[in-house]
Amino acid sequence: MPTRINWPDAIRPLLKKYKSKKHPLEYRNVYQLMVMVVLSARSTDSVVNSIAPGLFAAFPDMGSLDGVKPEALFPYIAGITNFANKAKWLTAIAAEIKSDKDIPLSLDRLTLLPGIGRKSANVILREAGAPPEGIIVDVHVLRVAPRLGIVKEMDAKKVEEHLMKILPPKEWDAGMAMSFLGRETCAPKPKCETCLMNKVCVYYSRLKK
Ligand code: SF4
Repeated sequence: MPTRINWPDAIRPLLKKYKSKKHPLEYRNVYQLMVMVVLSARSTDSVVNSIAPGLFAAFPDMGSLDGVKPEALFPYIAGITNFANKAKWLTAIAAEIKSDKDIPLSLDRLTLLPGIGRKSANVILREAGAPPEGIIVDVHVLRVAPRLGIVKEMDAKKVEEHLMKILPPKEWDAGMAMSFLGRETCAPKPKCETCLMNKVCVYYSRLKK
């Protein structure tokens, strides 16, 4: 492995592999995407996918959530971690946005909404097809990026700052690409032999010594 990796070049095969892969949340429009991203914090995508049809049958758009008390959501989302706070955040978001057509698609405006941090906002922008303004750093990226050796930090904010510094904006989908790699190959028990990044990976190069 070269001692100094040119990451904008080295990350390209990963970006190519996952370029148009949709996020595992099974949303059908930007309203559903936003609601499901809020619900997925500290929960799993599969749990959120399982409750989504019932929730969206009862609340099909932002307008239908506007003016609703948080408790009205409880029967639909009770299986989700931290559901009471998430119900508060979602109803507060609806009270502010009112309509699907007014869902903001900028990092600044999204992160002003309750329950939406940078990671969630970056996911919403990616999936909605808006230009990236940051890099998705989720639990998978926090495992994969240090293993690759692309970052040394373990704090999500610092990891994102570092990645944004070393990668040009056209490669800012690297976060979601690393997230997919973490889900499929670089799991807690990594499948390094079949990994397309093993030629540049610090963790793998140490394994082979
Ligand atoms: S080579 Fe192994 S440790 Fe490195 S990114 Fe791939 S699966 Fe993860």
